[in-house]
Amino acid sequence: MANQEDVFKKVISHAKEYGYVFQSSEIYDGLSAVYDYAQNGVELKKNIREYWWRAMVQLNDNIVGLDAAIFMHPTTWKASGHVDAFSDPLIDNKDSNKRYRADVLVEDYVAKIEGKIEKEVKKAAKRFGDAFDKNEFLSTNQRVVDYQEKATTILKRLGKSLENEDLADVKLLIEELEIACPMSGSKNWTDVKQFNLMFGTKLGASAETAMDLYLRPETAQGIFVNFLNVQKTSRMKIPFGIAQTGKAFRNEIVARQFIFRMREFEQMEMQFFIKPGTQKEWYEKWKENRMKWHLSLGLGEDNYRFHDHEKLAHYADAAADIEFRFPFGFKELEGIHSRTDFDLSKHQEFSGKKLQYFDTEENKNYVPYVVETSIGLDRMFLAVFSNSLKEEELENGTTRTVLKLPAVLAPTKAAVFPLVKKDGLPELAMEIINDLKWDFNVLYDQKDAVGRRYRRQDANGTPFCITVDHQSLEDQTVTIRHRDTMEQQRVAIADVKAIIHKEIDMKSWLMKMS
Ligand code: ATP
Repeated sequence: MANQEDVFKKVISHAKEYGYVFQSSEIYDGLSAVYDYAQNGVELKKNIREYWWRAMVQLNDNIVGLDAAIFMHPTTWKASGHVDAFSDPLIDNKDSNKRYRADVLVEDYVAKIEGKIEKEVKKAAKRFGDAFDKNEFLSTNQRVVDYQEKATTILKRLGKSLENEDLADVKLLIEELEIACPMSGSKNWTDVKQFNLMFGTKLGASAETAMDLYLRPETAQGIFVNFLNVQKTSRMKIPFGIAQTGKAFRNEIVARQFIFRMREFEQMEMQFFIKPGTQKEWYEKWKENRMKWHLSLGLGEDNYRFHDHEKLAHYADAAADIEFRFPFGFKELEGIHSRTDFDLSKHQEFSGKKLQYFDTEENKNYVPYVVETSIGLDRMFLAVFSNSLKEEELENGTTRTVLKLPAVLAPTKAAVFPLVKKDGLPELAMEIINDLKWDFNVLYDQKDAVGRRYRRQDANGTPFCITVDHQSLEDQTVTIRHRDTMEQQRVAIADVKAIIHKEIDMKSWLMKMS
């Protein structure tokens, strides 16, 4: 696989060809930045959701779940600040008529500088071999230090201008850096404007009485408005958390990156309610905990990094992203935010209802502080899927396309093949299927030569193939083939289930977090 763009194209076409992700309403030429999950995609997505839910709700006795409605009272969004401040700075190129997020143009420019640093590091690592000390190199090599300084200065200025709503300076920055439209190369830009990302809709039968509503742009507010209901009915004591997964909607300005940035997407969020003053400690704890969750899936430590925010959202006193190495570079996968008491205080103010917690140890009421972890399920899907897709050169000179999904997340855990379509082999294969299907997803395939069936399942991401042959009829054994190593073992039919369970058991994967 050659350059980044080719790799990404391959990811998108593979997702379509193997029934993972389709463009929404494709027969009508699609709807921009809206996608449907197909037969395999829906399973992968469900498994990722489950992996997150168990890590949050099942493994923490002080975190409970919630499923709040997408529609919420419109005042929610006034209180949360979304009506006034949930917007992105947009800029148009006058020659190509293409629209961009001004902040993203600058961030992409910085990413290029970071790419140069990475290149220097790689070169030096090669030159110095075992003696290479990356940290020392980063702090002493003049060229790298200069790059780093430039990147930091740019991001600081961008952060400051956005915080001060100084959109003229954002434009000036784009001009000073001589950033060109990626499509046309033109540097002829309009002014920067703010654009609200919420979708509006109406509730009610007649136009006069209808109430203006918004489709929720994040799931978090459903948690905040239910904070006291949950706390009282669950009798939770601070610190405790509420977790929720569900759809969110944003009218994104630019959405050209497949399921990375969608207009309808799913979030997995957890709001952790804490005593004011303890936010630093919990923020660090949740950063660490969330990174452990990611690393437990084995997608490679080098593919993650933290990015601490220079520019803080209107509600935050500290914020960091967990970035992942997507096919188009390192980008945000998850956000961890210390939200102070902003949300609860605002809802208290706008609703006139007290949203306070009585701390029996302190013997007083207070509005709790919140640390939030927020990850996009679709982005996580893309991280897992794109990282798993490999093209491998085999010893015999051929190549195979294999989707090395973590077995715990794979849509289908095993495929069962009769070697031939006769002599009672299909019947025995079906017997095995009928036994395994109670435990996990299995499929039956009898078409084509076994080698081709293996390839099909490799591309599908199925971790195990089980082949039934004539010997199976005699001694009740089958061949089990492992997707990643292509190793084949002869095993008793009675042992198949246990062998597969060992590899897919969610408990063992989650235990890697501890
Ligand atoms: P970005 O800077 O990429 O627009 P954000 O900082 O606005 O993201 P948050 O509001 O912190 O994102 O949302 C939390 C998570 O929700 C993000 O880390 C991301 O995984 C996911 N997410 C946000 N917007 C989208 C989207 N349009 N499509 C898919 N996932 C999204």
